[in-house]
Amino acid sequence: MRECRQCALADGRGRVVVYRGPPHPWLLFVGEAPGRSEDEEGIPFVGRAGRILEEAATSSGLRATEWGVTNVIMCRPPKNQFDRHAALACRPWLGAKVASLAPTVLVTLGANALESFLPEKLPVSQAAGVPHAWEGRVLFPMLHPAATLHSKAFAQRWKKDWQRLGELLPSWRGPKDLEGEQTPISPPGSEGRGAVRALPPGRILPPAP
Ligand code: SF4
Repeated sequence: MRECRQCALADGRGRVVVYRGPPHPWLLFVGEAPGRSEDEEGIPFVGRAGRILEEAATSSGLRATEWGVTNVIMCRPPKNQFDRHAALACRPWLGAKVASLAPTVLVTLGANALESFLPEKLPVSQAAGVPHAWEGRVLFPMLHPAATLHSKAFAQRWKKDWQRLGELLPSWRGPKDLEGEQTPISPPGSEGRGAVRALPPGRILPPAP
């Protein structure tokens, strides 16, 4: 991935920004594209948006060993504008990352990240805070954390959606094992409380019991 030159963004990038987190997170955040700090360091979400995300994750009780973060596009677009051609070119890489990390829950950050997963054009304002089924995993759309820097209404919505996610997390997270580590209740494809494979893509999941 770090040597990819499949689209025009390869010419202007500093570094390819692949992933940050443990090898097998049960929750994966997926943002849109790297910004300046990420491009310099080669690590996703290290700027202001990353700090907002980390703060929210910590407040919700998520441990650093449980979650990882990546982007739909791995090279920085000029002027930080989301590039749909690059998203298409980068799609196989995104698929490879999701397959190898194998998270139970995917949390998209922002409208462009959401669009990469759900075929129907769902406005992020409608989809955010509602769990959907996506290829045997739970998809939970949220606003992009950077949006909270520009609007009070977005900041309130971000907070509300995180409250909802915090309520749902225990139903998707497995019981503690003897070492005190969490394992997902239902890995993709299994039967049980968190199993979602039977639902068509994009279907809204019923609320957790
Ligand atoms: S954005 Fe993705 S497809 Fe384009 S060069 Fe970078 S890694 Fe390759």
